[in-house]
Amino acid sequence: MAMERTYNNRLLLADLTTGKCEERELGEELARAELGGAALNLELLRRFPEGEPLVIGTGLLTSTFCPGSGVAVVTAKSPRSGMVVHHPIIGLIGLELKLSGFDFIVVRGRSEKPVRLWLHDELAEIAPAGEVKEQGTNQVTGRIRDEYGDMNIHAFQVGPAGMAGSPLAMISESCFGGYDRAGLGLALAEKGLYAVVVRGLGSLEVADGFFPESAKLMQEAAQSLKGKIGIREIMRLWAKEETFLPALEKVTHRHSACYSCPFPCRTFGFLREDPARKLETDAPNPGDAMIDPQGVLALSFLGNDFLHVYEHCTQLGADPAAVGMILKAEGIADKNAADQRIESLINEKKDLVNSKQNNFHGVTPWPDGGDLSAALVQAAGIFSNGIPPAVLPLSNPPASLPADPVEKAALVLERMALGLTLGICPIFLLSTPVVTPARLAGLVKLATEWDGIGEEELKAKAKSLIGKTLKLAAPKGSISDGLKPAGFDAAWAGLKKRYVEG
Ligand code: SF4
Repeated sequence: MAMERTYNNRLLLADLTTGKCEERELGEELARAELGGAALNLELLRRFPEGEPLVIGTGLLTSTFCPGSGVAVVTAKSPRSGMVVHHPIIGLIGLELKLSGFDFIVVRGRSEKPVRLWLHDELAEIAPAGEVKEQGTNQVTGRIRDEYGDMNIHAFQVGPAGMAGSPLAMISESCFGGYDRAGLGLALAEKGLYAVVVRGLGSLEVADGFFPESAKLMQEAAQSLKGKIGIREIMRLWAKEETFLPALEKVTHRHSACYSCPFPCRTFGFLREDPARKLETDAPNPGDAMIDPQGVLALSFLGNDFLHVYEHCTQLGADPAAVGMILKAEGIADKNAADQRIESLINEKKDLVNSKQNNFHGVTPWPDGGDLSAALVQAAGIFSNGIPPAVLPLSNPPASLPADPVEKAALVLERMALGLTLGICPIFLLSTPVVTPARLAGLVKLATEWDGIGEEELKAKAKSLIGKTLKLAAPKGSISDGLKPAGFDAAWAGLKKRYVEG
């Protein structure tokens, strides 16, 4: 294998207790056996069990020309569910992480004082996080960028909710929210690790034929999603409130895509500037990027106030989907009441369980549940429940889906597993059936030249990742009865059997 086409061959052991970082070679043998991402993270958790480890990993194709390949994965035990989860970090962080020179990071131990992990130019440093207690994620990101003198630095971080020990805490992607529904923001805060800061100025080599094949796949994916733009495309499938889509349109300023992605599903809304403004604004923070369809949906009952409250949650690093469920149940109907209540929810350490809201082992469900297959995907709980638990019917031609709910749930879980092993956005994969395991296997083969690698191995790896992770599950709490559609128990038993015994 030409390792330099996929990885830097660098594994970092970051010990927060001693403040020391140790580098090791990743090794081709381990990469060949596990491929990467969530699958390799899981193996590293097994090899380095001491110090309550949390593993941050890049996928085999992260930062390559493959479409949607800017993803990193955090694998750790969820403080909410007690289960091992693979949480996707999308945006630009995965791209920057691999190009900083590090492929995988095992974070162990606990620092007494707040620290950040700073990765750049093949250098790793555990540095003091400074006075961050009262600051929002926007302010912290700005301060880190100012401090290091580089506006292209990205970080995933803990916000004030995590620092206050709230179970609603989530990992935030730089200034914005994220997809963490498992409380990993609290897991980071409990380790004293307030941010992982990355800047990637390195590069990977490119195999002959890899770029044209990636460009072809990109073009086909873009063609299949033609005209689909913005978070509204995902939300349309779930939004029941007729008033909501107009409220979303009212604040929409622009849509954007992550690295190498032809589906711009992220929507930036303006709160302090005219959304119709075309010229560059002078306002330092004109609004917020809506990257989290589940969080936006859960706040949709607030009508025109939804973005204000969404931004309040993202600045605090609090799960907007859980907050929305609690606020709605409490009858809170406007932004002023919501602002006050959000702060107290954090201070009172409220969560879905002690607020008596429906949950999957403490984890936030999608609003309105969805069908049986969506319930099964969320019940599995091993990938972020912030990712839509369904194949998204956006492409032309549409995906052909099995009628059986267990088969349908398996299809969704296996696409998520494949994406999080290769470092490809699971939302993108759930939107584009044209990006098949066979096409991805072709790219992997070009990049690695591994004997025997192909579609069947990728599919088997995805199944094995699901099985191995489910076998580790010792979930806390239960699944609320309100989240179990007819036939749930038998279907859930069937799905588990398929992966755990299969
Ligand atoms: S589908 Fe959306 S979240 Fe995923 S990479 Fe593309 S723009 Fe980013």
